[in-house]
Order: sequence, then C-alpha cells, then structure tokens
Amino acid sequence: MNFIPHDIRQRSSAPVLIDEDKCIAHKGCTVCVDVCPMDLLVIDPVKQKAFMQFDECWYCMPCETDCPTDAVRVNIPYLLK
Ligand code: SF4
Ligand code: SF4
Repeated sequence: MNFIPHDIRQRSSAPVLIDEDKCIAHKGCTVCVDVCPMDLLVIDPVKQKAFMQFDECWYCMPCETDCPTDAVRVNIPYLLK
C-alpha cells in the first residue's frame, strides 16, 4: 500500500497565496522565488506578480518571512501544525 501524506485534491486553494496588491515583483523583487528551495514560486510575466506554480510545499517558510512587503501567506495544513 502506498503512503500518501495528504490528498491535495481536497484542498480548495494553493497553500501559498500572494497578496497581489502588496507584491512588488513589478519593481524587480524576486525574493520569494529565490528563497524557495523547491522552486515552487514564479513571477507571472503578464501580471508581474508572484504566484505558486507547483503545489509541493515543504512549509519551510522563508518565502513568507523574507518577503519585504509581507505579501506571502503560507497556510500550513492542520495536520502539520
Ligand atoms: S518576495 Fe514578496 S514582493 Fe517580492 S516577489 Fe515575492 S511576494 Fe512579491
Ligand atoms: S514554504 Fe518553503 S517550500 Fe513552500 S513555497 Fe515557501 S519557500 Fe517554497
């Protein structure tokens, strides 16, 4: 039997959300993209805002703590709290 740590299909949204009003990627910021060890975050080339492209988050948190404008929210799943 395969061990499945959590079922992402039951999630209603990505675990990492970016407040696009606060994000200053359009001014050249790429901090969250650079610090993510999993390369999960990218800058949308059209909107010029960061977003989570892949949902394989480790909940290691530097994307949230290092963002200069406090735009990143990591929603840690209930089971990991
Ligand atoms: S670190 Fe914050 S301001 Fe910079 S790109 Fe990421 S979300 Fe936007
Ligand atoms: S919590 Fe860690 S793994 Fe998840 S998006 Fe942020 S930096 Fe990447």
